[in-house]
Amino acid sequence: MSNSAASPLPPTPEAEMQELVQKTSEQTKETVWRCADTNALELADHFYKGMLEYPQASVFLGNTIVQDRLHKSMQGWIRELFEHPQKDLEKLTAHQRHVGAVHARIQLPMHLVNRGARMLKHRLKHHLAAVCTDPALHIDALGYIGQMMDLALELMSSAYLRNSEREVRSDEAYRLFSMGQNMSVERERQRYALLEWSQDALFTLHRPLRPVALARLSTSEFGLWFTHKASVIFEGAPEIQAIQESMLTIDTMLLPQLQSLAAQELKAAELITELQSVVDEVKFQLSTLFERQLEVENGRDTLTRLLNRRFLPSVMNREIHMAQTQGQSFAVLMLDIDHFKRVNDTHGHEAGDIVLQQAAAIILNEVRNGDFVFRYGGEEVLIMLVEVSAEVAHRIAEGLRKQFEARDFLVGQGQKLQVTVSIGLAVYDGHPDHQYLVRRADQAMYEAKTSGRNRVCIAK
Ligand code: GH3
Ligand code: MG
Ligand code: MG
Repeated sequence: MSNSAASPLPPTPEAEMQELVQKTSEQTKETVWRCADTNALELADHFYKGMLEYPQASVFLGNTIVQDRLHKSMQGWIRELFEHPQKDLEKLTAHQRHVGAVHARIQLPMHLVNRGARMLKHRLKHHLAAVCTDPALHIDALGYIGQMMDLALELMSSAYLRNSEREVRSDEAYRLFSMGQNMSVERERQRYALLEWSQDALFTLHRPLRPVALARLSTSEFGLWFTHKASVIFEGAPEIQAIQESMLTIDTMLLPQLQSLAAQELKAAELITELQSVVDEVKFQLSTLFERQLEVENGRDTLTRLLNRRFLPSVMNREIHMAQTQGQSFAVLMLDIDHFKRVNDTHGHEAGDIVLQQAAAIILNEVRNGDFVFRYGGEEVLIMLVEVSAEVAHRIAEGLRKQFEARDFLVGQGQKLQVTVSIGLAVYDGHPDHQYLVRRADQAMYEAKTSGRNRVCIAK
């Protein structure tokens, strides 16, 4: 090696791909293109069949909507990579980086991408053997396929790394933020929620006319908060698992037994004592959990006190992961104040600010403790409703819209004004990319605007 000071930088994968395409013969490129184009459908089939055999991959690819969409884009990817003549190489390489960034966003493990690429390469070479009779052409085409795929993968991985570092940073920021919330207020709120649930259960059990279904602890206010928020705030704390186990004992053993023992009062009394002691255990674990906590940075928007949108990827990825592994659904509402510019123009910017604060208060009051409310833009709010069906999400959205419609907004000196909102609703449909879900909610909100405002539209 020469030790000259200005040694040239190694070529980028973009440059290498460019060079590869230039130096490969027309005949080779044409042969590979025909083979890839003809077999794109079969290759995508082969890819999914192979990948779904791996449980880890089926979490990402198991959903039928995902399969429909990704199946098409997989065929598209094969065609774009080997297209001949290559129309836009710059676009091709940029797209590979984009795909890598999407993989990072959905936290798709890199080794799964590598495995998929390896399967495709192997299969394409198999198809090539069937059409290539000239040995020299065959060798050249094999080399071309291998190098094109490796370069595409290299482009994806470099974008992947850069993006997953960013994701990790914002995950960590979110965790720190969650820890910094007002812990003593939260602790009292959760103690109270737990108490409320156990009182409800006891009252239900003592009703003379039964049966009335006992509400499960895991779907109570406390349970939702615990599953969706405490697990982030107290990540890794041993009490988390203890509380989880207690909740499971209560919901799957004690409650069903109590329910069926309505008549045998003696046995029921024993079970109630046991229920109380498990609830006490949860209470104790909960206080220990909170006592561990420290004060950390604040991650709320200063005007509205809503969550900062930089935490959106962390929160959505967690929820998507939960939905993928546990099967429950969640929904996103995109809410935008109608004609907000007029408020500013007629009453001044300060009045606008006050309206925004009141709007945030209305929203926080309508949603449940386990839901998430982000300030998404100027007067746009993104709401994540956890564990809801499409119907319930729609009802909540409609309730919000009505609240706005019914309220007077006070903007100083007894001045009142009316404000309405347009809401777009998108229910999680199995697509692993959170930006896709947000985009759907946004499009639905836009539709609510164009079809007259002050309404809820559901994403297609
Ligand atoms: P529509 O959404 O119904 O189409 O009409 P709009 O008037 O609300 O339109 P648009 O969303 O484009 O305008 C939003 C306005 O909100 C623009 C900006 O001046 C104002 N805005 C954004 N953030 C703030 C804020 O923090 N305080 C105040 N007072 N105004 C804000
Ligand atoms: Mg607006
Ligand atoms: Mg807006």
